[in-house]
Amino acid sequence: MKRDLFTFKKTFAGGIHLPDFKSSTSNLTIEDSSLPQKVILPLLSYGAKLLNTQVVVGEEVKTGQLIATSNEFISAPIYASISGRITEITDLPHPDFGEAKSIVIESDSKDEKGYNLKERDYRSLSSDEIRKIIKDSGIVGLGGASFPTYVKFTIPEDKHIDSFIINLCECEPYLTVDYRIALEMPDEIFKGIEVVLKILNIEDAYIAIEDNKQEAIDVLNEKAKAYPQVKVVVLRTKYPQGEEKQLIRAVLKRVVPKGKLPLDVGVVVDNVQTVLAIYEAVLFNKPLYERIITVTGEAIKEPKNLRVRIGTPLHHIIKECGGITSDEVEIIFGGPMMGTAVDNLEVPILAGTSGVLVLPKRKIDLQTESPCIRCGRCVEVCPMRLLPTEINKAVENKQWDLLDELNISECIECGACAYICPSKIPLVKRIKEGKEVLAKRKVKRNR
Ligand code: SF4
Ligand code: SF4
Repeated sequence: MKRDLFTFKKTFAGGIHLPDFKSSTSNLTIEDSSLPQKVILPLLSYGAKLLNTQVVVGEEVKTGQLIATSNEFISAPIYASISGRITEITDLPHPDFGEAKSIVIESDSKDEKGYNLKERDYRSLSSDEIRKIIKDSGIVGLGGASFPTYVKFTIPEDKHIDSFIINLCECEPYLTVDYRIALEMPDEIFKGIEVVLKILNIEDAYIAIEDNKQEAIDVLNEKAKAYPQVKVVVLRTKYPQGEEKQLIRAVLKRVVPKGKLPLDVGVVVDNVQTVLAIYEAVLFNKPLYERIITVTGEAIKEPKNLRVRIGTPLHHIIKECGGITSDEVEIIFGGPMMGTAVDNLEVPILAGTSGVLVLPKRKIDLQTESPCIRCGRCVEVCPMRLLPTEINKAVENKQWDLLDELNISECIECGACAYICPSKIPLVKRIKEGKEVLAKRKVKRNR
C-alpha cells in the first residue's frame, strides 16, 4: 500500500520528563573498539536457559564461529566474538545473575573470520529461508531484552500481523547509540526494514522516534522518500516512550490487553540496532558477535559510542575510554532508569547491553525514605495505569493476594513512580519483591 510520507507527534498517558544527559556523546561518531585480550561469553540464552557448548577447552576458534547452541525453541546460538583459543568453560561473573557458566576465548590478535562475508540477494529468498538465517545468526533483541528475533518473527497461524514498528525512541537518559545509528547508517536501516517486511509479508513499517532527535528525523525523512512503505512517526519526548506497549499505543492507537503481546494487536516491534543486525546477517551472512554501545557518565574520561565485541570485559571498555575520573563510582549496564548496577570489572558486555554508564557516587540520590504522603504522583505517571502506592502498601503488609488484584504483573519496572515519589519510597524495589513472592507461591502451588 503506497501512502504519502507523514510526520506527526503522539504519545501515551502517564510517563515523566527526564533530563536527557545525551550531549556528551550525541555528536560522537561510532568508533570501533580495539580487540580485547579475551572475551567471556555466558552460555545463557533468553530466560537464563543454559546452551550446549560446541567447543572444548584448548580448541582454536575463529571470529563468527558457532560455539554454543540449543534445541529449545526460545533460544539463540552464540558465536565466537574474537579468534583465538578456548581457555576455560567455567562459572564466571555475569552482570545479571552474579555468576554464569561461560566460555573464555583468549585472543590470537588475528581476528580471523570463521564465516564468508558474502553479499546475498535476499529478494530471491523465501520468508522461511530468511527466518532461518536470522535464527542461525543468533540475532536477539539488542534494545536490552535479548529475546530471540526469529521467535518474534514466527507468527502463530491464528494471529494476523499488519504493522512493524522500529523502536528508535532511546528514551533512557545518557544513551545515544540508536541516534548515531540513525544518523550514520540510514541505508542499512531501511534495507533491514525491507527484509523484515518480506518476512512478515506486510507493507507497513513505522520508525518511531522522539522529537529530541531532529537531525536523525531529517535524515530518516529524506531516506523514507524512496521507501513509501516506511513512515517516520515523531513522538513527544517522554519516558518510557520506548516500552513496547506505550509505543504501540502512541504510534497506532492500539491497546495491548493485560497479559497479551504486541502480536495480539497485529504488531511486531524491534529496536533499530536489531534491524541493523538483521541487515548484516541476511545480506552479508554475518552472525551476531558485536554490538554498538554508549559509554558515558560524568566519571568516564572520554565518553564514546563504541562498536564492541560481545563478551568484552568491562575493564577493557573503561580503558578504551580513558579510564575513570572519580575515586568512587557506580557503574550501570544500560540506562539509569532500567539498567543493572555492576560492581565487578570482569563482567562481560552482553548482546543486550546498550550502554555503560559510569557515575560518581555523589550523583546517586542517597535521600532516605519517608512515609507516603498520598500525593498520587506515582499513580499519575505510571504508564501502565497501576497504583504503585497501593502495591507498595500491600507488599509492606504482606497482603500477597491483593497484589494480583492490583495487576502487579503488568508493571514494566520502568521506575517512573520511584523517580517522581517525593517520599523517596523505593517503589520498584518493593514491586520486584512482590513479584518474587508471587512467583515462589506459584511454583509451590504447581508442585
Ligand atoms: S515501575 Fe511499574 S508501577 Fe512504577 S511507574 Fe513503572 S510500570 Fe508503573
Ligand atoms: S508518589 Fe510516593 S508519596 Fe506520593 S502517593 Fe506515591 S508513594 Fe505516596
